[in-house]
Formats: sequence, C-alpha cells, structure tokens
Amino acid sequence: MDHGILRIIRIRLGITGTFLLITILLNSGMVMAAKSALHGKVIALDAGHGGPDHGAIGVSGGAEKDNTLATVLILKEMLEKEGAEVVLTRHADYLPGYKRLSDLERLAELIRTRTDIANANNADVLVSVHNDSNPDPAVTGTSTYYWRSPILARTVQSHLVAALGSRDIGTIRHGFRILTRSKMPAVLVEIGFLSNTAEEKLLRSNWYQVKAAQGIMKGLRAYFADR
Ligand SMILES: [Zn+2]
Repeated sequence: MDHGILRIIRIRLGITGTFLLITILLNSGMVMAAKSALHGKVIALDAGHGGPDHGAIGVSGGAEKDNTLATVLILKEMLEKEGAEVVLTRHADYLPGYKRLSDLERLAELIRTRTDIANANNADVLVSVHNDSNPDPAVTGTSTYYWRSPILARTVQSHLVAALGSRDIGTIRHGFRILTRSKMPAVLVEIGFLSNTAEEKLLRSNWYQVKAAQGIMKGLRAYFADR
C-alpha cells in the first residue's frame, strides 16, 4: 500500500475505523503477525532438587533448590507469553516422587519421576536448571550439560552467557540420568557457582534469575527457529 491510499483510508474511516480495518485484516490472515518459534512447543522445565534435597548450599547459607525453583517459575511465564506449553517437574518445595518412596537414597527412582513427567507429556525439549558448586571458591561461570543434544546445548549456553555476562565454561557431554533417560532433546544448565561469594549473591537475586530465564528462553526460541 502506498502512503496516499493509507491517507485516504484514514480520512474516510477515521482512527477507529482504520484500527478496525487493521484488526479485520490481521484476523483474516491477510496481514501475518509474527509468531514466536516457541508457539505450540511443549517445554518441560525441571527445577533441580527440592524438599529434603537442598542441592548445593551457598556460602551465605542459601539453598540451590530455592534458586532453581524461582528461576524456573520466571522462565515458565516467559515461555507461556511466547505461546509455548510448559510442563513442570515440580511446582513448589518438594521432591518429585518422594512421597512414593521409603528412603531418600533411591535417587535413581526420584530422577526417573522427573523424566517420566517430561516423557509422558511428549515434551519437545527438557531443560533442567541447577546451580553449581566447587571446592575452589574462586571458580565462577556458566555451563550446559547434554547427552544427545549438542546443538540445543550450544544454543542455550550461548544465549545464557550473553544474557548473564558470566564466564563461559562451555557445553559438556555427561550422562546425567535426567539427560540419558529423556526421550526428547534435553539439557542441564548450571547457571553459576554457589561456592563463590559474588556469584551466590547474583544467583539469589531476582534480577539475575530474570536474566537467566531470558537467556534460556532466547536460546530455546533460537533453537526452534532453526528447526
Ligand atoms: Zn544441582
């Protein structure tokens, strides 16, 4: 459309009329609105640890299980805004599958519950969120683990590091059960180190959790855009 025609339409219809016309065109599919590559995808999100399993404990006493859940809940909202369907392995501070078990040592059984949730829901990808820990308190940085999905891992890792501005440890192939047992491409992200004072403070803060969620969301969107 040239600007002359647009001006005539605007004069004839007025602002409300023009708005109505654009709405009709959008709904009729004559004008295509940009759709996110995440639209219609099923994303399984796993907040690492939970309940009696605290995960790593930070230098100031905070627990990994709380950071992972907070980050996952932020990420869930972001993905849903993009039109994705999100499946969570846990929604609160509990250990998935724990109630069914007599003792905590049956860790394999507990992990099976998480992958079962992702598999039963036919998720397109699974992302497990964790915080790292190292005996050396100087160690910082972000890494992404994978078993069968190096491209997904590289894409999530690069967007995550770009969003956080953290040290890029890179992607690592490792046979965590949650990665080997899942039917779909799966990654486990270690956002940062709770054993480092500065990074622990970041990992506990809401704005850094939002940045991490943004990085993962953008990584997933880029991954599906390339499929
Ligand atoms: Zn962990």
